[in-house]
Amino acid sequence: MYAKNAWEAYSKAELKEVMNFADDYKEFLSKGKTERECVKLAIEMAKANGFEDINNCMKLSQGDKVYITNKGKNIALVVIGKNPIEKGVRVLGAHIDSPRMDLKQNPLYEKDGFALLDTHYYGGIKKYQWVTIPLALYGVVCKKDGTNVTVNIGDDPKDPVFGISDLLIHLAQDQMTKTATKVVEGENLDVTVGSIPLKGEDGDAVKANVLKLLKKKYDIEEEDFLSAEIEVVPAGNARDYGFDRSMIAGYGHDDRSCAYSSARALIDQGECDYTTIAVLVDKEEIGSVGATGAQSKWFENTIAELINLTDIYSDLKLRHAMENTKMLSSDVSAGVDPLYESVSDKKNGAFLGNGICFNKYTGARGKSGCNDAMPEYFAKIRQILDDNNCYFQTAELGKVDQGGGGTIAYILGNYNMNVIDAGIAVLNMHAPMEIISKADLYEAYKSYKVFLKDV
Ligand code: MN
Ligand code: MN
Repeated sequence: MYAKNAWEAYSKAELKEVMNFADDYKEFLSKGKTERECVKLAIEMAKANGFEDINNCMKLSQGDKVYITNKGKNIALVVIGKNPIEKGVRVLGAHIDSPRMDLKQNPLYEKDGFALLDTHYYGGIKKYQWVTIPLALYGVVCKKDGTNVTVNIGDDPKDPVFGISDLLIHLAQDQMTKTATKVVEGENLDVTVGSIPLKGEDGDAVKANVLKLLKKKYDIEEEDFLSAEIEVVPAGNARDYGFDRSMIAGYGHDDRSCAYSSARALIDQGECDYTTIAVLVDKEEIGSVGATGAQSKWFENTIAELINLTDIYSDLKLRHAMENTKMLSSDVSAGVDPLYESVSDKKNGAFLGNGICFNKYTGARGKSGCNDAMPEYFAKIRQILDDNNCYFQTAELGKVDQGGGGTIAYILGNYNMNVIDAGIAVLNMHAPMEIISKADLYEAYKSYKVFLKDV
């Protein structure tokens, strides 16, 4: 069903399913504040549904369900199908990193009676959106003795929260004349973490007191921040949005809404003709680089492992497998915002409630850096979506020359596999509070299931 509002068609029973699915997702989103937390949640989901750690498997055959993790920041859920891996697999690929601020390696300092943590922002953010909101800290501190301390503070109602200050309006005459990129400077995104001085301490007594508390709570020293990865994210749970509860407000819909619906689709669809994989990657927001990003060899290695566990391995089989694979790059799209209509071409814009959104291409300027999917491939997808009563729409990321963006689609496209972007339309993308429609979340889930089975 192309470009129609899904809400109008739902029966009472379907409406209940839509709302229930959204409730499950809200729980995932509220807990999955970082890529590491999302991997933990995905492992829980997988185990609860009979998936095994691939490291425990000597051999795999049709119907087997396994998961593979990479450095605690990637996961692939796999259901082995009837056809050999060489014939290609069916992949849903989403990213589980979201824009945020990371603590610097040497973050803690004291100024004017406050202890603060210095940060470096991650991904594309409007910096002014991240001040004067409650923030939480998540991550790991890796100590020299080989132990890792998990940090998770700000989301339990009993926890304190943190925050970044902004200048009071009364004294902001100069600040208010600055452009939006400068009104809050990146170097000023420092998080306030304390104000009680340690008794009997001479210099930087507030900082000393914070260090004392960190020692007591986590058994860490100041130097341990050097090998830490602490992410500063919005505190608080995902909530229903609107009188009609049709939408969800939360941090990290980009791209955890697609990550969750992809993982659930893979789990709920079960065994298919082709082997099916839901892969959740890191680092998309900074260019899919590094060991845990989509450009890493990890996914290719994972396919090699799967061939080895189901067949007699050869390099040629691996190349065939990659080339014969069909994939949806499960990533979000920009929804048309009624307050900022002018940046969209509404004939080619995504509307909240019109179902899963396909982007044949993203990129910037003259489609620069995009994947530009094959029309033959999308024709087949249209057919199976219509056959299965899934609501879908197509969109571009805004008007021509209005800006742009990218996803992981082109990276897998480099293997000569068919890939197209397919995900959920978001309002306020990359803001601390993003908005999606529950109908789109549900239609994405339905469409992902159909894709795994029928494409
Ligand atoms: Mn994304
Ligand atoms: Mn993004």
